Amino acid sequence: MPPYGTGAPAATAERVLPHYGESTLADLGPSLLASLGVAGEAEALGLPRADRACLLVIDGMGWQLLNGSADAAPFLTGLRAAGRQLSAGFPATTVTSLTSLGTGRPPGQHGVLGYQVLVPDTGRLLNALHWDKAVDPVGWQPGSTIFERAVAAGVGAFRVAQGSFERTGLSIAAMRGAEYRAANTPGALVAATIEALGSRRRGFAMVYTGDLDSTGHACGCGSAAWLYQLAHVDKLAEQIAGALPRGVPLYVTADHGMVDVPSAARIDADLIPELRAGVALLGGEPRARHVYAVPGAAEDVLAAWQEVLGDRAWTVSREQAIEEGWFGPVDWRVADRLGDVIAAARGQAAIVASVTEPRESALVGMHGSLSASDQQVPLLSYLAG
Ligand SMILES: [Zn+2]
Repeated sequence: MPPYGTGAPAATAERVLPHYGESTLADLGPSLLASLGVAGEAEALGLPRADRACLLVIDGMGWQLLNGSADAAPFLTGLRAAGRQLSAGFPATTVTSLTSLGTGRPPGQHGVLGYQVLVPDTGRLLNALHWDKAVDPVGWQPGSTIFERAVAAGVGAFRVAQGSFERTGLSIAAMRGAEYRAANTPGALVAATIEALGSRRRGFAMVYTGDLDSTGHACGCGSAAWLYQLAHVDKLAEQIAGALPRGVPLYVTADHGMVDVPSAARIDADLIPELRAGVALLGGEPRARHVYAVPGAAEDVLAAWQEVLGDRAWTVSREQAIEEGWFGPVDWRVADRLGDVIAAARGQAAIVASVTEPRESALVGMHGSLSASDQQVPLLSYLAG
């Protein structure tokens, strides 16, 4: 083990329903724009006024994971006492969270509702990370982005991230309108961020790094590899903070947390016939499933999934999930993208599909659910004085 202490805490069992409009990732973008003087943006988080700001998004750095790894992340840990928690929103997955951040709206409004969701009337799933040429990203998510709204108000809006993400379907759906600065290494991320913000009197940059999440998926968020990677991310944040001009705040957040799923907690939908009866398509991901029933079978599928999963998941109908506010207020135009049955894994459980999703099912770390481990993310801030 690295010299960093204990690593990931055990997954928590309680359910965290996101408080949309108060303390979720969907509330961060509008609050950031409001802090920059953009009119008409909801100021839920009360961020202090500034002319420029930087938002660093660390994929997969959940609040609980950071809490359990203080020694590996001295800079970020130093900001934690004055920081606060946000909820990611449901499902707690990158495509949904980045769209909540990028549009300033909850999932039920922006319609990017999971890793794999039904494209209505096609009988096919859209994998929002890899996208699909047949789906127009602007038609799929027609609402404005915070980048477009900033630019319309005369505020510079930059994205700084790996070059290969610039023109993905997800980027267009969730974050169009930004001036893109491609940066493929941590050092390049720092330099590109400082250069971008230096070019404007008013503006913000959203900086993204994905290596901590991929390390957690491959090796586990309780692994030595994860802690070593966290130390790199900590250094990245510290370098950005140290290089920003005076008076320019750095905010640090994450798109979701993570849970390591032991083999005993893996429920394999491809090997349990009861979980496939009446099911047309299995969407979502192992800790946040959208289950699409064949016509007329929704009630039977719900009963079977509740029976098999028991207390290993919160398993509800689409209607119940909407009524309980899992996605925030749901626009009727996107409601049919939701599963007839929705299952959010509890504890360390996951509903894998070893035959149809061999790659995803082999991952060690997973996320997506309503548990605190998945949902709680930090909002940290640093201001050079
Ligand atoms: Zn991930």
